[in-house]
Amino acid sequence: MRKDLPIVAIIGRPNVGKSSLFNLLIGERKSIVDETEGVTRDINMELIQTEYGAFYLYDTAGFLKEGDKFNSLVQKKVKEAIEKTDIILFMVDGRNLHPMDKEIASFLHEQEKEVWVIANKLDNPDMEVLAYEFYTLGFKEIIPFSVVHKRGYATLKEKIEIWAKNHGKSITPIQDEIRVAIVGKPNVGKSQLVNTILGYERSLVSDVAGTTRDALDDIFQWEGKTIRLIDTAGIKKKSRVADDVDYYTQVRTIQAIERSEIVVLLIDAVEGLAHSDKVILDMVAEKRRGLVIAFNKWDLKTTSGKDNTEMMKAYDAYFKQELPEFTYIPLHYISAKTGYKVPQLLHRILEIHEWFHKRIETSELNQWLQTIKEANPYKQASNLRVYYGTQIYEAPPGFLFFINKKEHLRKDYPRFLEKRLREAFGFPGIPLKLIFKEKT
Ligand code: GDP
Ligand code: GDP
Repeated sequence: MRKDLPIVAIIGRPNVGKSSLFNLLIGERKSIVDETEGVTRDINMELIQTEYGAFYLYDTAGFLKEGDKFNSLVQKKVKEAIEKTDIILFMVDGRNLHPMDKEIASFLHEQEKEVWVIANKLDNPDMEVLAYEFYTLGFKEIIPFSVVHKRGYATLKEKIEIWAKNHGKSITPIQDEIRVAIVGKPNVGKSQLVNTILGYERSLVSDVAGTTRDALDDIFQWEGKTIRLIDTAGIKKKSRVADDVDYYTQVRTIQAIERSEIVVLLIDAVEGLAHSDKVILDMVAEKRRGLVIAFNKWDLKTTSGKDNTEMMKAYDAYFKQELPEFTYIPLHYISAKTGYKVPQLLHRILEIHEWFHKRIETSELNQWLQTIKEANPYKQASNLRVYYGTQIYEAPPGFLFFINKKEHLRKDYPRFLEKRLREAFGFPGIPLKLIFKEKT
């Protein structure tokens, strides 16, 4: 076991949805070949790796079953278990407060542990208000939840990450695979691309040691790295009902992006940029996943006899003009059908993945900052002082800069600094986060 990861346990009366939540989290597990990572296994713990980070989930199944009372025997078991845990997810049926919830609550209050109430089964937004009743249990943190609809799920994982950071725990995932989502509007060639990639048979991994089997994903190796293509089943499955297409494509796209580290946005080179591409780009940037764009069906463009390089340049310029805020994203020109430059695209994915996990040392960052300060075009015009910076997030990278006064921070300054940061360090395809804080 890795001692630096937080341990989480789910506690609650029977039938509130504990196993459902457990399974939901386990669904994201990327179990690891322990020996290779220097990690030994604890039979009661499941290692969960999400896009937010890694933690252990204590297997509490069987603590409180249907018909059980919260008696001293059960309490003893729970007590033993939570001794090791950092965070207790106290699960309740958010639709109504049950007397046993109160019994468990008073027991948990005695344990002096971090307790978050998961008010489950609030399946639609209107039901969220019901969660407030549970404040009477005396815990500060209440998360309205629905395992069935994954409501509150992202919040929960994010909260674990924040808690871990604030308590000196690591959540750095054990890097065993690169999660890639291929997205784009219908008919751009997503399915074709997946087939072409998986067609590199010798590289196809049927059962990479330590990877969980997920019927929806495909896993293969490339240049010695393991790549998981997220939801290839969903990509390949074609909906026949026209109305369904939009809705399900959207939901699947969002889910795939959330599970990924790197997103490949496919654009039909013949049709050019679509509105939905812009929507996806905004979403990916907001969620801060690594990004690469591939103009597909390049074979159709190159049959016209026009010079290939010239045409790529024209596309580069076109993209830059249409989406000036996304110029940091590498552009590729491929043919999923013929396989043209698909290996280069895969190579790029690996490269962006490295940037995604890149860490710039504080000393190096500040040396650079010094040069920026000296060459700052805003120097004369503003009273802004940037004292120092540090990379506070990794995967995806984020930077914190200490300044004198927020009111001196001009709107265009973050963009200026980001541009310089990219010039100095790189970070292709990575949406960076820059935070400015007043030095106190
Ligand atoms: P446990 O006994 O606490 O482990 O509860 P289970 O996970 O077995 O769930 C009990 C029942 O509640 C099952 O029928 C689940 O399908 C149902 N359930 C779990 N989560 C939800 C939810 O978010 N909404 C609704 N409506 N039902 C849920
Ligand atoms: P998806 O809906 O995004 O999964 O798109 P598909 O993979 O089903 O492809 C849609 C259509 O475009 C199919 O008829 C493919 O044969 C075709 N197609 C996909 N990639 C290419 C390509 O690189 N070149 C050409 N000419 N056609 C392609």
